[in-house]
Parts: sequence; C-alpha cells; structure tokens
Amino acid sequence: MHAIQIMKTGGPEVLNYTTVERPSPEADEALIKIDTCGINYIDTYHRSGLYPVELPAILGLEAAGVVEAVGSNVTAFKPGDRVAYPNVPGSYAEYICVPVIRMVLVPDELSLELAAASMLQGLTGHALTHSTYPVDSNSQVLIHAAAGGAGQLLVQLCKMKGARVIGTVSTEAKADIAKAAGADDIIFYNDQDFAAETLRLTDQVGVDVIYDSVGKTTFIAGLDALRRRGTMVLFGNASGAPDPVNPALLMQKGSLFLTRPILFDYIADRTELEMRCADLFGWLIDGKISIRIDQKLPLSEAAKAHQLLEGRQTAGKLLLKPYQ
Ligand code: NDP
Repeated sequence: MHAIQIMKTGGPEVLNYTTVERPSPEADEALIKIDTCGINYIDTYHRSGLYPVELPAILGLEAAGVVEAVGSNVTAFKPGDRVAYPNVPGSYAEYICVPVIRMVLVPDELSLELAAASMLQGLTGHALTHSTYPVDSNSQVLIHAAAGGAGQLLVQLCKMKGARVIGTVSTEAKADIAKAAGADDIIFYNDQDFAAETLRLTDQVGVDVIYDSVGKTTFIAGLDALRRRGTMVLFGNASGAPDPVNPALLMQKGSLFLTRPILFDYIADRTELEMRCADLFGWLIDGKISIRIDQKLPLSEAAKAHQLLEGRQTAGKLLLKPYQ
C-alpha cells in the first residue's frame, strides 16, 4: 500500500510517498481502508522531532474510512462499518490497523471527510470548552489563531455556550473567517498589543480564559490579558514552545491558573471518547457547527500540506485523500 513515511526527522522534504506492506489486524484491531486522513499541527512536530517518534514512522494520527476486516476478538465492529478515530499513529496511508477501543462509528448522515476533519481538532475544542475550562454565557474568552483549525472550532463552541469571544488573527482574510465562525471582536496580534487591546475590550477587567495554541509569541503577554484568577489554557506551540515560567508569576499576575492540556488525556476513557464524538457528530449533522475545509490534497502531497500549515497559509482543515 502507499503511505507517507519518514526515515529521519527534518523539514517537509523528509516526507516520503512510498510503498509499505499492508498491515493485518491483531485480535482486538480492525483493518480500515482509509477514505480521508486529517492533517494536524502535531504531525509537523513528529516530523521535525520536537515530539520524538520511533523511526521509521508513518505519520498522521486521525482518519475516517471503512472497516475491511476485524481481528478474532472483535464483535462491536464488522466489515463495511464506517468509522473514524482521533489518535492512532500511521494514518497517512491507504490502510491502517486500529485498536477498536480507539475508534467510533460514523453516523450515516455524516460524510467520512467531515468525520475525519472533526476528530482531533473537534475533540480538542470539546475538551477545552467543556472540561478544561467549562465556558458559559457569562464567560469572556480570548482565542488565539481564531481562524486556525482548532481555533475556528473553539470559537464556534464558545459561541454555542453563549460566551463573548475575542479572536486573534494575522490577516484581514483570516479576520473574516474568524468572524464568520462567530468571533465578536478581532485583534491583529502581529500589529497590535493584544493584551492591551483585550483589556480595552473588557473595560480593563481581562478575559476569564485564554485558549492559546500559539505559545512562544503569545503566552507571557497573555497573562496580562486575563482577569484576576483567570485561566490560561496553553494547548499548543504553533510559534514555538514558550520559555519556562516561575510559578510565582501566576501570583504576581493575579492568582492565575495555568494548565497545559493534551487531548489524549481527555479521551483516554472509552466513555469519554464516545460522549465527545456523539456531541460533535450531532452538532455537525444539525448544522450547529461547521468545519471549513481549507484544502483536500492527494496523499502524495503531504509535504505540501505541511509547508502550507507551517507557513501560516491555511485557515481551517487540511485533508489528505489516499485514493485521489
Ligand atoms: P492551525 O490551523 O491553528 O495553524 C496554526 C496557526 O497558528 C497559523 O495558521 C497561524 O494563524 C498561527 N500562528 C501564529 N504564529 C505562528 C507561527 N510562528 N508559525 C505558524 N503558525 C503560527 O493549527 P492546528 O489547529 O492544527 O493546531 C494549532 C496548535 O494547537 C498546534 O500547536 C497544535 O499542536 C495544537 N493542538 C494541541 C492539541 C492538544 O491536545 N493540546 C490538539 C490540537 C491542536 P495566524 O496566521 O492567524 O497567526
């Protein structure tokens, strides 16, 4: 089968479109013929070595497709089932074997493309807004990279709960996209002092929570944009990992809370995975949220997808199609 494999870490050029042996399912696994793979920023960290992986490695964590065969212990899924999963390495490929405990059925009303697109970023949005810091109609929220893949979903989920959303973006075009997702106010964080602007927009109070996926260039300044006892949810490093901080800084900035969550701790339990997927799929089917597909590319063009993502040239989801 075809797959995108890396033999060493590095830039997008290390992504090889190659042929590898098609896997066979173990007793608790299903073999899935992949319809659509989702691209996530974390894939670039696996590729660059920021988050180490064992080499050689087939990249990619999420996909949706159709069950082709199941292992001897599997009773909950059968060949022909439409399924998706958010966290199984080796997804930039035509086929993958997935432990069935980590995948879910996709409802008939939802396309496999949208199911793939909703997995990692959608579940993250759900976890951050419902569990890490449960937003409500009294919340004032700052979302960095609000036109990004995770960003647009966060904006929509916070608006669904009635919060006021301030979003940061780099360009006018991205501002329009963040506004279309529901952002009430936009700050151009490359040109404006976003902390001062956030204070101005909140009558000098500050926001209740910041969802920060940008990291190095936003994290420290963000501490000045929070209200007293506000919460900093640092969940990504698109601009690089922030420098370490002394915990005393949280006291000095107003008894702040800091958390550095990763989705996988919010879906480790099967019940939690199913609950979050059921919510997301339902909202997508009912049109309560939508996912902006930025581009669909053939699997062979994974390197181009990584360049676009790291070059800040995307606004929404990038997908790879193995059979295009
Ligand atoms: P995005 O679609 O948000 O792409 C990254 C965006 O970040 C860019 O489009 C850009 O938006 C902004 N950005 C700001 N500075 C930079 C920079 N120096 N280089 C590149 N981009 C920059 O990606 P994702 O939604 O896939 O992921 C965003 C981050 O969230 C990643 O760090 C990812 O690992 C993390 N994440 C973490 C999860 C978790 O479980 N903790 C789960 C999902 C994502 P603009 O042009 O508007 O500035």
